[in-house]
Amino acid sequence: MPKTFDPDLLYVECGKCGQPILWGPGQTQKILDAAEINAEEIDEHCAIISDGCPSCKPGETSFSTQIVRMDDESDTPTAKALEAN
Ligand SMILES: [Zn+2]
Repeated sequence: MPKTFDPDLLYVECGKCGQPILWGPGQTQKILDAAEINAEEIDEHCAIISDGCPSCKPGETSFSTQIVRMDDESDTPTAKALEAN
């Protein structure tokens, strides 16, 4: 049996202000369910981009989200910054 990726480990970022979003355990699973995305289709190379966050849209409690898959071959600035350390 392949190991299922834990949705709570998915990286979530606000597409508006670029802030990483931390939310409670299980919240990512709810989003995946709402988007009808099977948890088996995601892995650590995927991330959730939110159309807003509580920081830049205070008062709003729900945001539309999309799942993006990072390309293995593209070096992200974040990865390079980590290597520099
Ligand atoms: Zn934001």
